Amino acid sequence: MTDVAPIRLADLTTLQTGAAPARMREATTSDELVEVLRDVWRTGDAWFVLGGGSNLFAGDDAFDGTVVRVRTRGIEEIPSPHEGRIRLRVQAGHDWDDLVAYAVEHGYAGIEAMSGIPGTVGAAPVQNVGAYGQEIQETLVEVELVDEDTGEVSTVPAGDLGLGFRTSVLKHHYGSVPERRAVILSVTLDLAATEDGRRVVRGEQLRRALGLTDDEPVPLAWVRERILATRAAKGMLFDADDPDTHGAGSFFQNAIVSDAVARTLPPQCPRWPVTPDLDAVTIIPLDSYYGLAPKPAAPPSDVKVSAAWLIENAGIRKGFRLPRSRAGVSTKHALALTNRGGATAAEIAELARFIQSRVHAEFGLVLQPEPVLVDVEL
Ligand SMILES: Cc1cc2nc3c(=O)[nH]c(=O)nc-3n(C[C@H](O)[C@H](O)[C@H](O)COP(=O)(O)OP(=O)(O)OC[C@H]3O[C@@H](n4cnc5c(N)ncnc54)[C@H](O)[C@@H]3O)c2cc1C
Repeated sequence: MTDVAPIRLADLTTLQTGAAPARMREATTSDELVEVLRDVWRTGDAWFVLGGGSNLFAGDDAFDGTVVRVRTRGIEEIPSPHEGRIRLRVQAGHDWDDLVAYAVEHGYAGIEAMSGIPGTVGAAPVQNVGAYGQEIQETLVEVELVDEDTGEVSTVPAGDLGLGFRTSVLKHHYGSVPERRAVILSVTLDLAATEDGRRVVRGEQLRRALGLTDDEPVPLAWVRERILATRAAKGMLFDADDPDTHGAGSFFQNAIVSDAVARTLPPQCPRWPVTPDLDAVTIIPLDSYYGLAPKPAAPPSDVKVSAAWLIENAGIRKGFRLPRSRAGVSTKHALALTNRGGATAAEIAELARFIQSRVHAEFGLVLQPEPVLVDVEL
């Protein structure tokens, strides 16, 4: 029986907003999930799938369609074609942090810096989850998915998912439609199988977060512990008793702007170069070829600027609340908009719009929301 009594989305999402949808179904096996989706698609009903509800901002009016809850579980070890590595095929509804704990416990390296990210494994490629410089795209081999257009199940290599900074072809960005309407059934990762559960930590951001100064291998379990503690201190570990965590993680994305725009911002505003996603082939017209290939033109580089810095420097402090509102900026993290208890979606949207307008007035940039919005306008 896959039909279930609709539950309030406020009880199934970490931002804790949203009424019960018109219809709700759930699937506990991959076959069941495919069957339920095909069934919903045949009816033409509006739909979306719900994993852990930790990246979803649902509006106050009941969603007039079917919400499909993905409740599949399971981790399967399969050999990797690469020496010293192991593959894990994981069902979409499996808890992400449970997978990270499993990998660390077995000495499999590659996702330990993403300890403590809430939600399910199937949703992780949707926005190419990441933390401390590690992203799922570094270890993702392929996903098994079912497309709405055809109803067919296929295996899609990671390279075809358009993975980028908190994006993929599957993500429903605010104000647009996903490039590919499909549901992930399982995810396959390729991890390094360490012999003693230790690895040398690379990546400046992660090394800084861990306070590492040398190149000695460190236990994966220690990395996980440190990351969990750091995230807890920032309110980035979901805790039912801590309103600072009743949000959707970062509510706004770091802004990606051209180098020229970045130069107009105050020099103190933290920024990072974004590797341009350009075709590396240099095209040389034959009639201008004299035997020497010209130097490739330096590609224009984009710059990622800190949304948290922009917010705080637009005068919005941690803990900020509009008068009489039950929505507030986390007291620990300027990027997290949180439900302080009983806030409606309208209250959270009002706070989001206020922050957007302050940042726009001060710096001329419009911050874009990171969570998926369902029946909410900003
Ligand atoms: C306290 C906190 C901290 C966070 N920290 C981070 C962080 O450090 N890094 C980070 O990247 N994110 C972070 N997030 C955001 C969130 O945890 C991730 O985006 C997570 O991957 C969402 O998973 P979910 O199962 O909860 O997705 P949901 O919220 O259930 O769904 C999100 C979107 O994905 C779609 N979706 C869900 N499952 C599938 C599927 N199987 N196939 C296709 N589409 C699907 C949904 O329809 C929806 O559009 C944080 C959130 C919170 C609350």
